[in-house]
Order: sequence, then C-alpha cells, then structure tokens
Amino acid sequence: MQTAFESWIHPAPPSEGGGLRVVPGGFHIDPIRPVDRAVITHGHADHARPGNASVLATPETLAIMRERYGAAAGATLQPSPYGETLRIGDVTVRLVPAGHVLGSAQVVIEHRGQRVVVSGDYKRRADPTCAPFEVVPCDLFVSEATFGLPVFRHPPADREVARLLDSVRLFPDRAQLVGVYALGKCQRVIRLLREAGWDAPIFLHGALGGLCGLYERLGVPLGPLVPATGLPRDAFKGQIVLAPPSATADRWARRLPDPVVGAASGWMRVRQRARQRGVELPMIVSDHADWDELIDTVRDVGCGTLWVTHGREEALCHVAAGMGIEARALALVGFDEEGQGETADDPGAGDAA
Ligand SMILES: [Zn+2]
Ligand SMILES: [Zn+2]
Repeated sequence: MQTAFESWIHPAPPSEGGGLRVVPGGFHIDPIRPVDRAVITHGHADHARPGNASVLATPETLAIMRERYGAAAGATLQPSPYGETLRIGDVTVRLVPAGHVLGSAQVVIEHRGQRVVVSGDYKRRADPTCAPFEVVPCDLFVSEATFGLPVFRHPPADREVARLLDSVRLFPDRAQLVGVYALGKCQRVIRLLREAGWDAPIFLHGALGGLCGLYERLGVPLGPLVPATGLPRDAFKGQIVLAPPSATADRWARRLPDPVVGAASGWMRVRQRARQRGVELPMIVSDHADWDELIDTVRDVGCGTLWVTHGREEALCHVAAGMGIEARALALVGFDEEGQGETADDPGAGDAA
C-alpha cells in the first residue's frame, strides 16, 4: 500500500528551517533558515542560503555558494554530480539537471517504492550555459509556477537578442544598457550575444564580474568582458553594457552616453512593468518555464500528484486536475512570489525572472 506523500515529505514551518522537509532522509530542500542538513537545488539566493551545517548540492552550485557566501556557505559541503545516487537515511537521492542556471538540479528522491521529483526552478528551452532539463518520470512532481498563467509564453531567446543587436545598429551614438540578474541571466545573455556574432568586448557593472569569472572557470566561455569603470563616456558609444536591473535606473547609468535601457526578464512580457522601470527595450528572456513548458513538463513526468510552489499556482493546478492529476498549491514561505531568486540577487529591483 502506498503511504501518503505528506507522511514523509512536507513543507517545514520557517521556525523549523522552512523549505521541504524529507523526514526519512533527515534533510530539508532549500531551507530558508539554517538546518543541520540541507539539499540545495541551485545558487539563487532564495534557494541557497548561508549558514547550514551540511550542504549537498552539485559541484557548480557549491562553487556558486562559496563565491557568494565564503565560509558561511556551509560547514560541510558535499558535492554530488548529476546522476550520482546517494543513500541518505531511509531514502535515495539523485540530482539531475533542471536547465535553469549553471549547476541547477532537480532532486529525485525514492522512498519505499515512491519517487518524488522536486524541480527547484527549471526551464525546458536550450541554454548554452547549463545542462538541459532532464525528464524523470515520478509519482509526485513538485513544480515551480513563476510564469503559471497562459499570458506567459516566452518567445525564442535568440530573437530577443537579435532585437538588441538591431538597436545597436540603429543607435550607434548611444550605449545599450541591459538589466540582467547576476546569476544565470547575465551569462546566458552574453553567450547568446556571442552565438549571434557579437564578438566585441561586453562591458560589465562591477556586481557581475565575480560570477562571470566563476562561469568561465567552470567551463562556460564568455569572450572578452571589460569592467565598465574608469572609461570616458564616448568609449561606450555603440557598445553593450550589462548591469543589475537596479543599476540601470540609478546614478550608475549616468556614465553612459544616452543609454537605450533594456532588461532581460520573463516579466518584460508585461508592458506596464517595462514602462514602470523606464525600460525602452524589453527583452523577454527567462530562465523559468513558461505556461506551455509547465504543462508539457507535468505531462512528460507522468505524475499522479502535483504540488505547485512559488508562483501562480491556481491555473496550473486547474489544468493538472483536468489531466486527472491530483494537484495542490504548496504554501512554501520565503520564496519571492514575483521573481524567484533573481529577486534576492538584487533586492533593489523588486522582481525579475
Ligand atoms: Zn525559485
Ligand atoms: Zn532560481
């Protein structure tokens, strides 16, 4: 007889660490407060927090956490490469690619004949900076739903990058300033630009250099990158400058000649947001599954039960129920409703994905 999933995996209250607690494994997935044993899906700051006693994650996620938190990344760091199966307490655990950012993983847990997949954040589109999402058939799938509404359908990312290059050609006397989140989006936009033939140096706000260097050391070449500091204004004419979203609207941007302000985010689908931010060139480039990808994924994993976390849960639950899947929204606290992780990278910006 199958036990209800809730008897062994469930959201933990923040006072007990938060995140998802896997009782027979003695660990929390993406806890929001320090715990003895954490399994971390990926490096975004609302999933990977400092201060846990022991941390299990992919080698890349651990490297990202060390880059950001130093010694506070965790007292004991245990790297687990994709595909390795580990026994932890009374469960087995395997990390498989989630296609979200470098090192991002779904956590596959097996316990007494039941298989649960906790997706963390994910997308299905090709991304030259990380391994592609892997479909793992399961009984219970725990899905994010950042863009869980039919209005969110992301166009091809290379088309959005082509619009940026069109803008460079159209405005040779202006700088192109694009707001990107430091982990994942920044490096993906750079790689997309390289694939589109842009081999000139790309100028970076100081907050972006560290993780770009780390990506390169982990085998993701990004081409020539130059800090956007100490240069005359004219040096930026006809050039592409990347900065955290909060910096594109503040004093920092005044060093640039009449910048065309862009932003690369799934939220750029919402015109009002782009306008509010003063974004002239909204680029819909997201590291989260869009509406179709969410539904395809729920179908592909063939789960009988679906739990939907941070995001817009209701619509996805409704569609899943129509597919004969038992679906419910999980009240997980500590994840930013708007942006997931990218927000926490950049508290000033409010949201983005
Ligand atoms: Zn998230
Ligand atoms: Zn994330």
